[in-house]
Amino acid sequence: EVFTLNRVYNFSAGPSALPEAALEKASKEMLSYGSSGMSVMEMSHRSKDYEAIIGRAESLLRELMCIPDNYKVLFLQGGASSQFAMVPLNLMGKTGKADFVITGQWAKKAMQEAKRYGQANIIASSEDAVYNYIPELDESKFSKDASYFHITTNNTIYGTRYTKLPNTGDVPLVADMSSNILSEVYDVTKFGLIYAGAQKNMGPAGLTTVIIREDLIGNAMDITPTMFNYQIHADNGSMYNTPPTYSIYITMLVLEWLKELGGVPAIQKINEEKAAILYDFLDSSKLFKGTVVKKDRSIMNVPFVTGDNDLDAAFIKEAASKGFVNLKGHRSVGGMRASIYNAMLTEGVVKLVEFMKEFEAKNK
Ligand SMILES: *Cc1c(COP(=O)(O)O)cnc(C)c1O
Repeated sequence: EVFTLNRVYNFSAGPSALPEAALEKASKEMLSYGSSGMSVMEMSHRSKDYEAIIGRAESLLRELMCIPDNYKVLFLQGGASSQFAMVPLNLMGKTGKADFVITGQWAKKAMQEAKRYGQANIIASSEDAVYNYIPELDESKFSKDASYFHITTNNTIYGTRYTKLPNTGDVPLVADMSSNILSEVYDVTKFGLIYAGAQKNMGPAGLTTVIIREDLIGNAMDITPTMFNYQIHADNGSMYNTPPTYSIYITMLVLEWLKELGGVPAIQKINEEKAAILYDFLDSSKLFKGTVVKKDRSIMNVPFVTGDNDLDAAFIKEAASKGFVNLKGHRSVGGMRASIYNAMLTEGVVKLVEFMKEFEAKNK
């Protein structure tokens, strides 16, 4: 069915595959949304039609993630990378310090950017083993007076994820959830702030979502640019300036699809099944090997290698010719990486594993 539409199995780490139902709906509404006579792209963000779209996107996200009323949901731009600065500018002024766990390049960038605005403490790092595990955290090392404690819940490049959140007590836990938001159930009340670029697991590039506990708003440093102040966006319902209107609309369609499917608990079950299919094969294969310490394996990004660079390249090329695309690992790691976000069908993973078995048989 997928191939009759000439659609491939897209294992891209981001921007990544979107649910076909959402794309189909968008294509039907492309030239005229409802009775508006125009595309969502052509609409004023202050119009009634658009206000309904952004309102629905927010209420669906609140419903799907069980976001309590004392949290604001902000729809911003600038990517997760802008949050590396926006978080310290808004939160770090309280005590001038924040704690970081370095589990990959993104976590490191968050720490390096924060260092421009205060003291950034490294609590633990897995850099010694190319970030192939989540380090044990010694709570006695946590700064009691940190303004926040920053983690990356899922490490997109290396394929690790936290299976247990650090207990930071009264220090707000801040999470970069770009590559696993909405993939598994999280208790939002455990976090002071969650941010995510939309283009991995919730929509197109251009939208960055921030979920922030209200008491953390209003402490921005004086040097904070207006556009980087959470207060400005919270006070203006993410409409201080033009929001990324079309990205928010597509995200709304993705959230509708997810709700229809049974919400986050339902997709979590599917995601765990998909990941198990791939990991079980990797654990039994004589050719392919997973690169991550087992207990810390991501259910979103699955890196693997053959141990032979030429064979890796041949595999990636042959896979692409069969419709399994974007399997090349991140340039810093090499090998392969299958990103199997919410929109990747179980069928795609099953067929990928069938292909890997054939490839293994031919390359003994
Ligand atoms: C992709 C990614 C980023 C960078 O996102 P941009 O939106 O491109 O700035 C940051 N953190 C994580 C965990 C990511 O996966």
